Amino acid sequence: MTNCVLCKEGLKPEEGQLIWRGDSCRIILVSDPDLPGFCRVIWNHHVSEMTDLTYGEREHLMTLVFSVEEAIRDVMSPDKVNVATLGNMVPHLHWHVIPRFKDDAFFPGSVWSDRTQKTSASTLESRMQKSKDLPAAVRELVSRLN
Ligand SMILES: [Zn+2]
Repeated sequence: MTNCVLCKEGLKPEEGQLIWRGDSCRIILVSDPDLPGFCRVIWNHHVSEMTDLTYGEREHLMTLVFSVEEAIRDVMSPDKVNVATLGNMVPHLHWHVIPRFKDDAFFPGSVWSDRTQKTSASTLESRMQKSKDLPAAVRELVSRLN
């Protein structure tokens, strides 16, 4: 699909950075000033639903999602991790893996809900610094899968 943003793999710096890429999936650290550590696991080919994948493919994708969750827990020490797939805006299979904190801008709603509060700048800066360790932590966990 030529008009699908996830079929185009290039990322502008303001969109995030590629953490890891395999034959079927890639993992992105999303650049979101409100939500440091927000990661996305993207199926490389354009399919829309989990049930478009074979059982083996589903297992591979979810194993990567849970590796990202584990890395996020280790590095970010969040109050909660949100794992979600929606695809209503971009019907190209991808999972969001998001560290959540009781003082983040949207807590306790989803990150797509209205803002509930303002996180202090120093807290956001500290989390942004921590999130710089995520790429290496994710790659380390993923490397152990094979
Ligand atoms: Zn696509």
